[in-house]
Amino acid sequence: MLDKFVETGLIKRITTEKDVIRYDGLTIPHHHLHSIDSQRIEDYMDEELDKILKEYFKTKRINNFNIEEIALQMKGKFNK
Ligand SMILES: [Zn+2]
Repeated sequence: MLDKFVETGLIKRITTEKDVIRYDGLTIPHHHLHSIDSQRIEDYMDEELDKILKEYFKTKRINNFNIEEIALQMKGKFNK
């Protein structure tokens, strides 16, 4: 069932570095905060950051690759 949603673009599949497949209900561009001491991952949105990244890659091109979306993965610890 989840695969069907992925196909239709309702959700996105995220594969973490531990190959844990996670389903993301947020389809608008956003970043992720990964806890280094648990499986916790939270969505992070920052329009100002998106703007900076977009501007950066407008001038700095990557060979053989066209960027369609930029998503950062930030690792750290959540404050309890
Ligand atoms: Zn997300």
